[in-house]
Amino acid sequence: MSVTPIEDKLKQNLKDIFGFDKFRGEQDKIIHSIVKGDNTFVIMPTGAGKSLCYQLPAITLEGTAVVISPLIALMKNQVDQMKGFGINARFLNSTLNKSEMNKVKKDVLEGECKLLYIAPESLTKEDNLIFLKSAKLSFVAVDEAHCISEWGHDFRPEYRKIRSIIESIDEKLPIIALTATATPKVQLDIKKNLNMDDSKLFKTSFNRANLYYEVRPKKNPKKQLLQFISGLKGKSGIVYCLSRKKVEEIANLLSVNGVKALPYHAGLDPDVRMNNQDAFLNEECDVVVATIAFGMGIDKPDVRFVVHYDAPKSLEGYYQETGRAGRDGLDGTCLMFYAYDDVLKLEKFNKDKTVTERENAKALLMEIVAYSTLGVCRRRQLLSYFGEYMNDDCGFCDNCKKPTKKFQVEEEAVLGMKAILATDQRFSIQHVADVLTGNTENNDYIQSHGHDKLPEYGKGLEYFKSEEVVYKPKGKNADKDEQEEYTVTDKWVSVLRQLLVFGYIEKDIENYGVVKVTEKGHKYLADPYQIEMHDDHDLSEAEGSRDDE
Ligand code: ADP
Ligand code: ZN
Repeated sequence: MSVTPIEDKLKQNLKDIFGFDKFRGEQDKIIHSIVKGDNTFVIMPTGAGKSLCYQLPAITLEGTAVVISPLIALMKNQVDQMKGFGINARFLNSTLNKSEMNKVKKDVLEGECKLLYIAPESLTKEDNLIFLKSAKLSFVAVDEAHCISEWGHDFRPEYRKIRSIIESIDEKLPIIALTATATPKVQLDIKKNLNMDDSKLFKTSFNRANLYYEVRPKKNPKKQLLQFISGLKGKSGIVYCLSRKKVEEIANLLSVNGVKALPYHAGLDPDVRMNNQDAFLNEECDVVVATIAFGMGIDKPDVRFVVHYDAPKSLEGYYQETGRAGRDGLDGTCLMFYAYDDVLKLEKFNKDKTVTERENAKALLMEIVAYSTLGVCRRRQLLSYFGEYMNDDCGFCDNCKKPTKKFQVEEEAVLGMKAILATDQRFSIQHVADVLTGNTENNDYIQSHGHDKLPEYGKGLEYFKSEEVVYKPKGKNADKDEQEEYTVTDKWVSVLRQLLVFGYIEKDIENYGVVKVTEKGHKYLADPYQIEMHDDHDLSEAEGSRDDE
């Protein structure tokens, strides 16, 4: 065999095996980093081409690369795809019987297998560990690395054990962690948990310029959905619903209305589930109605729309789910039907959780409320959530196309930031707004922390006076005591939220929900100017899905 430098081999395999002429984005740098043996952290949106970043070096390097992957369906897809390329790839998970498992192990030990996909549960099994220790491994890839974090949208406790297992196999094995969703908080969690402080970070923009984002108040969702889909006949799409029951109901609704739709949820017989997924991939059906169990690792390039029939649990999950649209680079529409009732419903699911879990889940849900309510460009909102700030509105979302009323702030922005500083940057937006408007009714901390003695206390009442108080029940069907009206405190919450989207203030990574003034914010305080903001949406007409049961 001729001695070609590894770089040449990589290039050649890229062409011969994958059929690609060149690397996309930072793929070559990422692959170079792994080949060098560095720990590597890849954060790129869905569809950016992350898989190739470990597949290509796995094929090219000596030994077997271990790929830790959270879903059996995902593993199977990837192994099938690799086999299609003539690559020896295998998976190790609970679906295999003893003899199949032994065959896989033999292949690895004989150095035949280039990629071994393994579920985190299987990784922790004693005999698998012994086997891995005796194999020649090239590196470990941790796919969907956000599963490590409770602050991600798919927390998998077993992911927390990965680091110690890798160490027990061979502590010098390089790790590549990959994820499509990482807020600054999740990013920190991944690094800590995998002990990858020294890793090289490759993060590309999360902007998916070809996706159109829209939120519609949920009034009569079945009618709204049918109307939306009627304009997209024959187009491929995903409709996400919260419950299995709703999935069945909506799939049925679409079918009787002439849409080729199939359900997908974890309660279906595995064969049926697999069939429905294949039917979608093979274009025998246009629309999959699914719970969030569907989609991870589904690589269908021409998904033209993703509808959230019910509110999602977190903005991160939302971004991941909508990211399945428009992978081919052509336009996709991401539509969410929103009602505060849905959020209340989601909150009730957490009844049995611990206090901390409940509070965390609620904080994530409140991001959905803010996203739906704010009149700011949706893309700016989404990207700022991932620590990315755009200087201008995108022009390609509902808030850009149909803007709410604008207003200018300057003194208000200064006052808001001063109040954050005066409370030592240790409190939430809601608390700061409560301080500004002297809203002590539901907030015991104001007095206990002496915030009622601050010069900023109650100062916010001098602004937005001309705003008529708009009565806005947060969901018609909400219990009486859950109903609130839109007050000047809400207005301040909106202003502070907009400062967050624009990067004048930011979330504290260590303490969820706490806001701090950024460098940009400090510059602003030294030399303030007018900032344009948008009124919140009036979502009081949105009824949620209780009517719709
Ligand atoms: P991700 O894992 O980031 O969501 P994938 O790895 O599934 O993305 O890749 C998305 C699509 O891009 C796939 O269809 C893949 O074949 C394609 N792709 C990846 N790398 C390249 C490349 N260098 N040139 C052309 N297409 C590529
Ligand atoms: Zn926009």
